[in-house]
Amino acid sequence: MKKYSWIAAAMTVCVWVALAQRPKQVDDNALKSAAKEGDEWLTYGRDYGETHYSPLKQIDVSNVKRLGLAWSWETESPSGGRVEGTPLFSNGILYGSLAWDVLFAVDARTGKMKWRWDPEIPRQHISQICCGPVNRGVALYKGKVYAGLLDGRLVALDQQTGKLVWEVQTLEDPGAIITGAVRVVKGKVIVGNSGAEQAVRGHFSAYDAETGKMAWRFYTVPGDPSKPFEHPEMAMAAKTWTGEWWKMGGGGTPWDAMAYDPDADILYVGTGNGGPWSHVYRSPGGGDNLFLASVVAVKPETGKMVWYFQETPGDDWDFTSVQPMILADMAINGRQRKVLMHAPKNGFFYVLDRITGEFISGDKYAKRVTWAKGLDSKGRPIEAKGNRAALDQAVIISPGPGGAHNWQPMSYSPLTGLVYIPGQESSYTYRLASAFTYNRGTRNMGMQGGLGPRLPNGQTAPPPPEPPAATPAREPEGAETQPQATGGFLVAWDPKTEKERWRLTGAGGLNGGGGTLATAGNLLFHGPVAYNAETGEKLWETDLGGTNVTPISYSLDGKQYVTLFARNYPNNRLFTFVLDGNQPIPPVPAENTAK
Ligand code: CA
Repeated sequence: MKKYSWIAAAMTVCVWVALAQRPKQVDDNALKSAAKEGDEWLTYGRDYGETHYSPLKQIDVSNVKRLGLAWSWETESPSGGRVEGTPLFSNGILYGSLAWDVLFAVDARTGKMKWRWDPEIPRQHISQICCGPVNRGVALYKGKVYAGLLDGRLVALDQQTGKLVWEVQTLEDPGAIITGAVRVVKGKVIVGNSGAEQAVRGHFSAYDAETGKMAWRFYTVPGDPSKPFEHPEMAMAAKTWTGEWWKMGGGGTPWDAMAYDPDADILYVGTGNGGPWSHVYRSPGGGDNLFLASVVAVKPETGKMVWYFQETPGDDWDFTSVQPMILADMAINGRQRKVLMHAPKNGFFYVLDRITGEFISGDKYAKRVTWAKGLDSKGRPIEAKGNRAALDQAVIISPGPGGAHNWQPMSYSPLTGLVYIPGQESSYTYRLASAFTYNRGTRNMGMQGGLGPRLPNGQTAPPPPEPPAATPAREPEGAETQPQATGGFLVAWDPKTEKERWRLTGAGGLNGGGGTLATAGNLLFHGPVAYNAETGEKLWETDLGGTNVTPISYSLDGKQYVTLFARNYPNNRLFTFVLDGNQPIPPVPAENTAK
C-alpha cells in the first residue's frame, strides 16, 4: 500500500514537471489572469482591461538610467506603410505585425526571426483607403496567432511555424479594410472593420477561434428599415436616423478599441465616425445616428447589447470613439466603482460605470475643445453655437479630424491612479462639399478638403479643389476664450477628479508618436523615453532615429525587458532594452530619410 502511494506521488511529480516544462499556452485562464501575472504580454493592452500597465518593477525610477540596448531586429518592413503595431510576448517569443499585414515571430532571447508570413495584400486594393496600410497587432490563443488583414481576411496561423491554418473573409463593402488588432474572448476572435471615410457600414463580429466559423455580427449602424433588421438593436438605432442613409453605409466602423471584463462577462467596443462625415448629407433630417461615435457593451457569446453610450451625437467632425479604452476599479466620491475610461477624438475624458453604462464624469483633457462647451449631467455634449459647417459657412473646429487622441494607446497605473494619454491639440476647417453623390468603394466625405485619394505609393493625394466659400470660415461661439492649439502632449490624468496631474507639451508631436506604457517601477514609457510616472520628470531617453510605436514590457530568464518598434519603413526596427544592455543603437541608413 505504502509502495503504491509512493508511486502515485512520484507520478504526480512527473506530471507536474512535465506540465511545468510544457510551453505555457495562451488560453482563457492565462488571458484572465494576465492582469496579475506580469511576465508576459499576451494581448494588445497586456490584459483584458487594456491597461498597458506592467506589474514588473526590476526597472524602476532609481535604475532606469542604466537601460541599454539588448538587441534590435531589422524588420525589413514593406514600403508604403507605417508600423503601428504593439507586439505580444509569450514563452520567450515576440509576435507582431508590420506594414501590409506581414506577421512575424522573433526569438526574444536573441532577436532572431523565427518565422515571417506575408499575406501578399494586393497593393491596389487599398489605394482609396484613408489611413495607410497599417496593422496594429495580432492575438494569441491556444497555439494560434490571429490577425485581421487589410483585404478583409481574418487569418489563423500556427504559432510554432507561422503556417496558415484557416482564413475567412469578413467584409461586405469594397471600401472597407481592417487595421485594428483582433482580440480573443471565450474562444471567439473579435474583429471590427475600418473605412468610415468611404462611408462603409460599421460592424464587429465574432469568429470561432478553432474553425473560423462566424458566431455573430453586430452592425453599428442600421440598414434599410423596410427590410428585417439583422439584430434587434438596429430597430432602436434606426429611429435616430433620417433620409436614406442605408443607401450609403453610414460609417461607425469599429477599427481599434476593445476591452473585456471577465467577471461581468461584457465586451466593450468603440465605434467610428459618421460616413459621410457631413451630418446633413448622411442624415438630412438630423438625429443622433446611433451607434456612431459610441461605446457599445455586448455579451461576447451572443453579441447582444447590454448598454451603449454615445459620445458624439450626430457626428459632423470625424470624431471617432475607437480610441483605446481602459477598465479599472477605483473609489470615486467614497464609492467603489468598476469604470471604463475613454479619451475619444472629441477631446473629453469619460469615466463610465462599465456594468450599467452610467455616465460618472467627464471633462476636457485637451486644452482647446471648441465644438462643445462641456458635458451635461448625463454626459451628452453641450454643443457650441456655430459648430457645424453649412453650405454658406465653413467652420474652424478644435480638435480636428486627427482628434485630441487617436490610435496611440493610453495606459493606467493603479499605483499612481493616473491615466497617461498621448494626444495632440489641433484645429481644422470643415467646409461642406457643394454637392454630394455617394460612390460605393471610394472616398465619400461630403466635406471639402481633408483627405484626397490614397495613391498606389501609399501617399495621400491632395483633395480636388473647390471654389472658396463666399464668407470666411469662422469659429464657434466661445472659441476665443480658449488656449491656442499647440501640438502634441502627454498628460497624466486623474480620472477620480477629472483633473490633470502633469502635462508635457511639444510642438508637432512628442517622442515621435506611439502609445504609452506604465510600470510598477513607477515609470511611464512613451517611445524610447522614461518618465517618473508620479511627477513627469524625464529620467531616461535615447534616440532611435524616427517615429516610435508603443512599448511593451515582459520578463525573461529573470530580467525585465522593454521592446518597441521605431523608425519608418523600410528601416523599421524592433528594439529591445534591458538594464546594463550594451549594444550600440544601429545608425539610421541614409535612405530612411530620403523616402
Ligand atoms: Ca475617420
